[in-house]
Amino acid sequence: MSSNQQRVKLNDGHFIPALGFGTYKPEEVPENKPLEAINLALDAGFCHIDTAYVYQTEKDVGQAIRSKITAGLLKREDIFLTTKLWCTFFRPELVRSNLEKSLKNLQLDYVDLYILHYPVPMKPGEDLFPEDEHGNALLDTVDFCATWEAMEKCKDAGLVKSIGVSNFNSRQLEKILNKPGLKYKPVCNQVECHLYLNQSKLLNYCKSKDIVLVAYCALGSQRPKRWVDPNSPVLLNDPVLCDIAKKHKRSPAQIALRYHLQRGIVVLAQSYKENEIKENLQVFEFELPSEDMKILDGLNKNLRYAPAPFGKGHPEYPFSDEF
Ligand code: NAP
Repeated sequence: MSSNQQRVKLNDGHFIPALGFGTYKPEEVPENKPLEAINLALDAGFCHIDTAYVYQTEKDVGQAIRSKITAGLLKREDIFLTTKLWCTFFRPELVRSNLEKSLKNLQLDYVDLYILHYPVPMKPGEDLFPEDEHGNALLDTVDFCATWEAMEKCKDAGLVKSIGVSNFNSRQLEKILNKPGLKYKPVCNQVECHLYLNQSKLLNYCKSKDIVLVAYCALGSQRPKRWVDPNSPVLLNDPVLCDIAKKHKRSPAQIALRYHLQRGIVVLAQSYKENEIKENLQVFEFELPSEDMKILDGLNKNLRYAPAPFGKGHPEYPFSDEF
């Protein structure tokens, strides 16, 4: 296993590997696939794994890591592991219990990064997507700043090394940064980011606050039926992207990932196929010249593949603001 990936310094002094492996599993993907893919990713040399309580892949991640540790192929500190606090656990008194459930699933005593998954709180309970009888999401009124304070306590308790957020817009980041008594700034904001939604304004904002932007759906997403419009364009088929890939004798996926690395973004990539997983790790072997970076910048069309419908009526719905 190699860990010779680039790393990016976080504002709390820890480092995050610049390329991570995603483990979100759409409903239509067979149950056995994530474990298989995580094992392939670890064997290929991925040392940064991204999961979340709501993905229900934490047990697979835990099993894969534990078996490599037991076999002497890996040490815990070789892996950078992210998981996320789900929206039904935003009440401060529930935060640590959600984290402890995640740690149990992961068979670990700490995670490297714990992220507030999405800024809209939902009704607490067993149901991960609580709805009323008309199919409307049941939301909650917790202020995410109170949730953040509970996350800070998890860091103080040594259960997480770093804390961050996901799907926050700049106004919401500002709200946390200006919170009276803030103890720890978010180290990152994990957001949808790819050639069709390059997030240049949010990226500039995050850089100005020393918050790392982590890109998800960087390859155009898995196009899960539940979240993505099947008529949306397929990112990796983009003709301009394919031309640049051809010119560099690289794949469109490698160019799509490399583009972010050169912008100072930490990027996640998901795949179930061994050849793709290996190919995605080869993004540190080449560089894109600035003229190609500019052409790729020009592909932006502010197209969001996953505009998460739930929470639309809530004041903290994140995607109505410009950035
Ligand atoms: P993604 O990384 O954008 O794309 C995955 C798709 O790209 C898969 O369909 C895969 O195809 C294809 N692919 C991967 N490598 C390829 C290659 N070398 N050549 C051609 N095709 C390739 O997918 P994602 O799962 O949406 O996003 C990545 C991760 O981000 C997630 O797994 C999750 O960990 C995280 N995420 C976070 C949030 C959040 O709210 N914070 C939301 C979404 C995702 P195959 O089917 O061929 O394997």
